[in-house]
Amino acid sequence: MDFRDTADEAAFRAKLRDWYEANFDAGGMPAAGRPDAGYLRKWSRRLFDGGYVGLTWPREYGGHGLSPSYQAIYFEEMVRAGAPEHMGIIGLNMAGPTIMTWGTHEQKSKHLARLLSGEDIWCQGFSEPGSGSDLAGARTKAVLDGDEWVVNGQKVWSSYAHLADWCILVVRTDPAAEKHAGLSYLLVDMHLPGVEVRPLKQITGDPEFNEIFFTDVRVPKDSILGKPGDGWKVAMTTLLHERGTMAFALVAQLRQHFSRLVDLAREPGSDGRVPADDPVVRDAIAQEWIELQSLAFTNYRTLTTLLTKGAPGPESSVVKLVWSEANQRLTKLARSLQGLSGMLDGDGGVWDGYWQYRQLRSRGNTIEAGTSEILRNIVAERVLGLPRSR
Ligand SMILES: Cc1cc2nc3c(=O)[nH]c(=O)nc-3n(C[C@H](O)[C@H](O)[C@H](O)COP(=O)(O)OP(=O)(O)OC[C@H]3O[C@@H](n4cnc5c(N)ncnc54)[C@H](O)[C@@H]3O)c2cc1C
Repeated sequence: MDFRDTADEAAFRAKLRDWYEANFDAGGMPAAGRPDAGYLRKWSRRLFDGGYVGLTWPREYGGHGLSPSYQAIYFEEMVRAGAPEHMGIIGLNMAGPTIMTWGTHEQKSKHLARLLSGEDIWCQGFSEPGSGSDLAGARTKAVLDGDEWVVNGQKVWSSYAHLADWCILVVRTDPAAEKHAGLSYLLVDMHLPGVEVRPLKQITGDPEFNEIFFTDVRVPKDSILGKPGDGWKVAMTTLLHERGTMAFALVAQLRQHFSRLVDLAREPGSDGRVPADDPVVRDAIAQEWIELQSLAFTNYRTLTTLLTKGAPGPESSVVKLVWSEANQRLTKLARSLQGLSGMLDGDGGVWDGYWQYRQLRSRGNTIEAGTSEILRNIVAERVLGLPRSR
């Protein structure tokens, strides 16, 4: 892999940097970096109007037909500018690529353009109270009645469901079949009667994810992706994209946290001491920098697989695993540098509680998009070729 930008990539980077300069006002962001939904909707629209949404999507679906290296540059520059991500991450990274792979012509025309423009926000209805890691155990059921699927059941931990217009939903359509074979994959309008969303507060205090209850929800028959019984295969397409494309954003975000950690270490604390003067602190920061470098190079391997094979490989699970643990360590270190002030959140806390929020939010990183245990199994079996655990 050649790490340098090609002439075209360098021109793209320069143009994007100018665009951020002209369009993004870091001062307009809340100090703890928690922009609200209204702000994010407007920002997502601005990104779309600027031509920076759907960079790698094929032109026929309204994208820009660029290679994944442009997406990587986009994330690097986003982080450099300190700007937030597009709000429709579930739609752009998961629902969209899955619809492109499995959707009918009608489904593609109906959903892809609105998803790119941010008019429709999507959520992911996979996890259930009794099945998170074990997706094949999903019990929410859909029964065909005339021209409609009647959906009953409950999903949980669905990010953005309180804001979403559509949901990618894994349902059981054949209870008699072997568990993987009995699943189907529906595209469900969240505004249909019988869909009830109940926000759940996370440890951060933010209601970022939700329970979704489905009671006799009548979903048009043609809302299925693939055939009845294809649900497991379709869901695997979604999960491959979830971990693959996410890796660039994660590493870029960690780099941003790292550079803020260095800023923090240089600031005198309330006792007048500068944390970076302490050799133990310098050691800990250097160690995080080393971890970051190894992660960045593993990520380049993911990018190489994407460029050469057109799809992310299992090594993207390594990036998610190592990133989530590095992010927890780094945010914890940042809080420990604040001494007694580290106990204060929000007003009165250092940087208005930026690090306190980041540390609490990082707890979910080792659970969402595959827990660390599940990812270790994937790395052992599919990257290292070790025997299956079960
Ligand atoms: C911030 C956040 C956002 C999320 N957003 C979404 C979303 O938008 N949509 C959605 O559908 N879900 C979402 N989730 C849910 C997430 O995917 C699940 O929480 C996750 O898959 C784990 O499932 P579970 O909570 O049911 O735990 P379980 O699967 O019950 O696991 C419990 C524990 O057992 C371990 N374990 C389970 N199976 C094995 C095994 N085979 N080998 C070794 N250890 C094992 C797990 O690692 C874990 O430690 C989100 C979660 C978080 C934290």
